[in-house]
Amino acid sequence: MVPNTTPVGDFLDAIVATHKKLIEASKLTMPIISINAYNCPDKQRRIEVVYHERLDAATLSTTPITFKGTPHFPLSSNMDYFITKLIFSNYQFQSSLDTGDLLYQRVVDFVQTKKKMGKVIRIEIPTFPSSKEILAPTHLFYVYVKGVYTPEDVSMERTLMIPHHQKAPVRIQWAGSTPFCNYCRKDGHILNRCPSRLSLICY
Ligand SMILES: [Zn+2]
Repeated sequence: MVPNTTPVGDFLDAIVATHKKLIEASKLTMPIISINAYNCPDKQRRIEVVYHERLDAATLSTTPITFKGTPHFPLSSNMDYFITKLIFSNYQFQSSLDTGDLLYQRVVDFVQTKKKMGKVIRIEIPTFPSSKEILAPTHLFYVYVKGVYTPEDVSMERTLMIPHHQKAPVRIQWAGSTPFCNYCRKDGHILNRCPSRLSLICY
């Protein structure tokens, strides 16, 4: 349990220090997906940390965070929710607003309000060098959802139309989702094994 006087930022520093080796070895630019503080009825404050999926979950969930000499044990063994990473692709970024509030609102409307899968805790937009000095988003973004429902539970669509924004729908994938074909735009196979494509090539 974390004392109620601890600011999240100080605790974040303690987390990074505790997992320094692991974080450095991972070379991740964002090893911590989110950090949230909750004021609990017992007047104590709990801090929730969501780590990047590429970090070793076993080490993270068994290593106490040492803060001002006191070890704080993680609660992950009692976790009653899970984090799902949704991958959105084929999105056409059109303005700088797209990387901020506008995209956040669209995603929340879909994942949280329409599908009710859980709470959107983070949106990650990877950037790539588009010219010598400019880093630009491509057509991808990742959405981390915290909740008790899987995409299957809420019958998550595999595509999403965004009106007045783009002509082709945005595609949605997650770990364990059926493969999606970029050629015929159907579920169940990837481009390499697409029957429509093969029928044209292997005549
Ligand atoms: Zn196909």
